[in-house]
Amino acid sequence: MRVPPVRCRPRAAKLWLLRVGYSVMSGGGSRCGKPAVCLISVLMSDTSPLRDSSEAERQAAAALFSARRLRLAREAAGLTQTALAGRVSLTPAAGSQFGKGEARPAGTTLARLASDLGFPIGFFTVSAAPSSLDPAPGNDEGDRGFFRSLRSTTVTDRRRALALAHLVHDLADHLSGAVRLPAADVPRRRAGPDDDYRTVEERAAMVRATWGVQPGPVPDLVGLLERHGIFCARYHTGPHTVNAFSVPFTGRPVVILGDDKAKRDRERFSGAHELGHLVMHSPDQAGTKPAEDQANQFAAAFLMPAGDIRPELPGTAAWNQLVALKRRWGTSIGALLRRSRTLGIMTDSTYQHAYRYMGTRGWRTNEPGDLGAAEAPRLLCQAARQAGASSTSLSAETGWPESWIEDILRASSDQRPQLQL
Ligand SMILES: [Zn+2]
Repeated sequence: MRVPPVRCRPRAAKLWLLRVGYSVMSGGGSRCGKPAVCLISVLMSDTSPLRDSSEAERQAAAALFSARRLRLAREAAGLTQTALAGRVSLTPAAGSQFGKGEARPAGTTLARLASDLGFPIGFFTVSAAPSSLDPAPGNDEGDRGFFRSLRSTTVTDRRRALALAHLVHDLADHLSGAVRLPAADVPRRRAGPDDDYRTVEERAAMVRATWGVQPGPVPDLVGLLERHGIFCARYHTGPHTVNAFSVPFTGRPVVILGDDKAKRDRERFSGAHELGHLVMHSPDQAGTKPAEDQANQFAAAFLMPAGDIRPELPGTAAWNQLVALKRRWGTSIGALLRRSRTLGIMTDSTYQHAYRYMGTRGWRTNEPGDLGAAEAPRLLCQAARQAGASSTSLSAETGWPESWIEDILRASSDQRPQLQL
């Protein structure tokens, strides 16, 4: 494999070396910025293969080994502990000990693991990134997210998706050192499994009031979440079993939405659904039917407050009117029909008839009145731009592979061409 030149960032290198207390430089003390490669760049470069890392560099990484990061990289690759051990010729017992942090791998073993997983060796070290540190006892929010259905989502898929949320969290945390980011401002008001839709309506109204949302439609749901400190990102989550999900990281919640091919109206509903979880639920409620129903009720109430939408909703399946309402409120025809039924404007039988009619027309998967591109997250890309950070520098400073960072920044920005006037 051809190794591209590693760009050394003297300031980042110096800071990192100060932080970890190492002053070892490769090449007998060569200075950063010179052609010689500095330790931090070697450790953090996702293209540094085993043959190019010196024993000193491998030892430095092994000394700071983070079992949590090994687990994240393994889960990001979709591998079990045993499978990874087999791929790098470790015994299952050794793989298990490294995974649990009961033993530290030797430098050469760590380099093999890094190379196999496609991560820079420096990723596996304890650093300032939150994902490299073990959570405080009882604070395991980062290890559990709100996934739609635990039954239809495999553990492997969920863990891969969670690794992605950790990447967003690490990037946000890192960028907060250079740019003042909006503080997380998510009012918490728990809902229990026995609370009905009226309680959920109150929760949604409370959040709108706390955030000062004007009556009527929410013009930009993703922007609203970001202004209140919720980091949103889009990503091709790959397996279809994982839809939008959220992770209630302390102080910096993350919402991962589907890819940018998603329908605008459905994605807005998904974003509001995840907000509902962040407001009302704890991770131990994730994936349960009451919590999922409540998050859907929250999304409907948040995007279509009863008092504001009631005068506009039809009691019959007036399709022309529903398409116009879809444009105005940014919610799907299906969601408008359900809202009309919930608010007692449409009878159950009218709703059932309309729902069946949508099925026969193929509208349940492809409704009329397409609203165009899904809302684009902006916070992550704008913060990176303002910090003057590139995916290369972010990779060097956070340890995440550059290709992952590039992908997430690309997917989490507005890809529509800018019209020049
Ligand atoms: Zn959910």
